[in-house]
Amino acid sequence: METKIGFGYDVHRLVEGRRLILGGIDIPFSKGLLGHSDADVLLHAITDALLGAAGLGDIGELFPDTDSRYKNADSAQLLTEAFLKVRKNNFSIGNIDAVIVCQEPKLTPFKKQIQCMIASILGISPDNVSVKAKTNEGLGDIGEGKAIAAYAITLICKEI
Ligand code: MG
Repeated sequence: METKIGFGYDVHRLVEGRRLILGGIDIPFSKGLLGHSDADVLLHAITDALLGAAGLGDIGELFPDTDSRYKNADSAQLLTEAFLKVRKNNFSIGNIDAVIVCQEPKLTPFKKQIQCMIASILGISPDNVSVKAKTNEGLGDIGEGKAIAAYAITLICKEI
């Protein structure tokens, strides 16, 4: 069976007056991520990992932030559209592994919910989605709570 791996990374600034949405889940916090879309940094990293694995470019090419259609866009919708393109190339997802780098808030209570949400967006088993969260040990902009970053890797398999 043909398999391919893909890697994705994203970072967004944390600012006041925005909702914090991570992996499609609304996280209660005093700040949220700044972006043209809903700025869901985790779903963006996963979208890029899937597109990368299938050799289909990146999220910025598919959904340019100069396009008003994507203003405040639901990133779950963007991920769904990207995954449809991946599926059109006859790939299904083996698994996804992701890391959120976030100083605050503590994400441990939300990890399971985020994992299940990603699985439901993609129509795969939660067993094939892993979401990890860590702080940046107080280092740099992420450590100072000015931004949140996410990394994701995925394996996709060609259906015969
Ligand atoms: Mg982004």
